[in-house]
Amino acid sequence: MNYIVMDLEWNQGKSELDEDKKRIPFEIIEIGAVKLNKDRKCIEKFQRVIKPNIYLEIFPVTKDLVQIDSKELEEGVSFVYAVHEFFEWCGSDFSFCTWGNMDLVELQRNMEYYGITNYLTKAFHYYDVQKIFSLEVEGRKNPKTLEYAVEYFGFEKSKEFHRALCDAEYTAKIFKQLNQMLINQYFSIDCYHNPKSVEDELYVNYGTYSKYISREFETKEEALNDKEIKKINCFLCGNPAVKKIGWFSNNPKNYYCLGYCSKHGYLKGRIQINKVDNGKRFVVKIVSTISKEGAKKLKLHHDEILIKKLDHH
Ligand SMILES: [Zn+2]
Repeated sequence: MNYIVMDLEWNQGKSELDEDKKRIPFEIIEIGAVKLNKDRKCIEKFQRVIKPNIYLEIFPVTKDLVQIDSKELEEGVSFVYAVHEFFEWCGSDFSFCTWGNMDLVELQRNMEYYGITNYLTKAFHYYDVQKIFSLEVEGRKNPKTLEYAVEYFGFEKSKEFHRALCDAEYTAKIFKQLNQMLINQYFSIDCYHNPKSVEDELYVNYGTYSKYISREFETKEEALNDKEIKKINCFLCGNPAVKKIGWFSNNPKNYYCLGYCSKHGYLKGRIQINKVDNGKRFVVKIVSTISKEGAKKLKLHHDEILIKKLDHH
C-alpha cells in the first residue's frame, strides 16, 4: 500500500452565495501530492494548477497567502480533468494523508459538484498528519499549524509555502518523522459519504477511546432514541457501563454523558449529531476514559446547564 500525501489550495467568492454556489463554497485551484511507499519513501510527485470556473477573481486573503498568479491560473487545466488524472496517478492501493481534515472534505465537495462519483463512495480510513503530530509531540489532539511542525523539526522554510505541492512535501516530511505505531493506531475516518445502512456502520476501538459512526436517521430525536446510540459500553472490557449522568446537552449538536465501569472507572460519552444534505442525521459517538477529576468537571458542567435551564423557566 502507498501513502498519498495530498494538499489543496482553494479560492472562495466575495459576496453572498446563490443556491448553486452554496454547493461549492471553496473552489479548488491547485492539487499537490507526494506518493510514498509503505516504508514512507517518496516515489512520485503530482501537481496540477486548476483554471477557476466558479470564482474567477482571487479572494484577497487567498491572494496574499497562496503565491499563485492569474497567468498561472489562466493556463491551468479544468478541475474534472485534474481529478481524473489525480486518481489515475494515485493507483488502486493507497491511503490518503493530509494536514487536518478539511482537504478531503473540500475535494469531495468539489467532486460532487461536478458529478464525479466513481472514486470515493463510502467512508474511508486516512491519516491526519496534524492529529498524529500533535499526539506525538504533545500527547493530545491540540491542533498545530503546518508551519509550527516545520519549525519544530527544524526544516528549512521554502518561498513556496502555501503552494499545494510544497505543503504536501512538508506534510510528507513530517509524516516520515512520526512513530509508525502511532500512525497505525490513530488513523482517521472520513465521513463525507456517511454510512447509510446498519452494514455500513463503523466501530473503532483506539485503545484510549472508541468511535462509533451510525447509519442515517430521519430525525435527531429518532437517532437519540436508538438503543445502540443511547447505551454506553466500556470499550476496554465491552461491559455496559452504569450511567451516572444521562445524555445532556448545551447545544443542539453535542450531547454528553457520564458512565462508570466497575473495572475501568469513569467513561465520558459524547454524541455529535451530523446533518446530511438530504435532511437526515447520522451520529458520531465517542467514548473515552476520564479521571475522577474529569468526571467531577463533567458533573459541574451538567449542573450548570441544569441551573441555566431552571432559571429560564
Ligand atoms: Zn470496563
